[in-house]
Amino acid sequence: MTMPNLVIALTKGRILDEVLPLLAQADIVPAEDISLSRKLIFDTNLAHVKLMVIRGSDVPTYVEFGSADIGVVGKDLLLEYGDEAFYEPLDLDIARCRLMTAEPIGRAAPVGRLRVATKFVNIAKRYFAEQGVQIELIKLNGALELAPSMGLADAIVDIVDTGKTLTANGLEAKDFIAHVSSRIIVNKASMKIKNAAIREILDKLSTAVANRAA
Ligand code: AMP
Repeated sequence: MTMPNLVIALTKGRILDEVLPLLAQADIVPAEDISLSRKLIFDTNLAHVKLMVIRGSDVPTYVEFGSADIGVVGKDLLLEYGDEAFYEPLDLDIARCRLMTAEPIGRAAPVGRLRVATKFVNIAKRYFAEQGVQIELIKLNGALELAPSMGLADAIVDIVDTGKTLTANGLEAKDFIAHVSSRIIVNKASMKIKNAAIREILDKLSTAVANRAA
């Protein structure tokens, strides 16, 4: 049987380091060292499987439109993007962290609307609306921790792991918003058309995840 071509979208950095051992257990191994290359698409040991390396925030887009069949992406980005556009069949339980609000240590309650800086604008809007708190939202693309000390915002919504980045910038975590870990997402049409090939990978990955947890 010839296998249909499959493209898997990944991101560099922490997720890549943690996902490659899981992919290896699903018998998928990149043909070269991804972290040493500037290429964006990589062959693997399997002729029909290619790995694409892109920004995390672009993984949902590539998978929604079917340019990638499978993606590995943080739940933070899925909560921000919306999770209707693809299937989310597996929690890889890697790159775990939390989405939190944070503010300057010991800051007095601000007068007027809370100014919140974040790159997670949809998550922040939803969270503060649920709390009944009116906010002024300020979209940033990085270095969120700087915004309060530079007078741009009263609080931020960001990813927290150890909390060291917050502390180093005079901030403390306040409210918990969501647990985050990396998920497998699958294009809806691919799941039908390439079902056997995708199922095989999903089954092997879930076995790898279960074995690691054991
Ligand atoms: P920490 O200082 O350990 O709390 O790490 C916080 C920073 O590391 C965040 O601002 C993120 O940029 C990054 N970070 C930590 N964990 C993750 C993760 N699982 N996924 C993406 N970014 C992360």
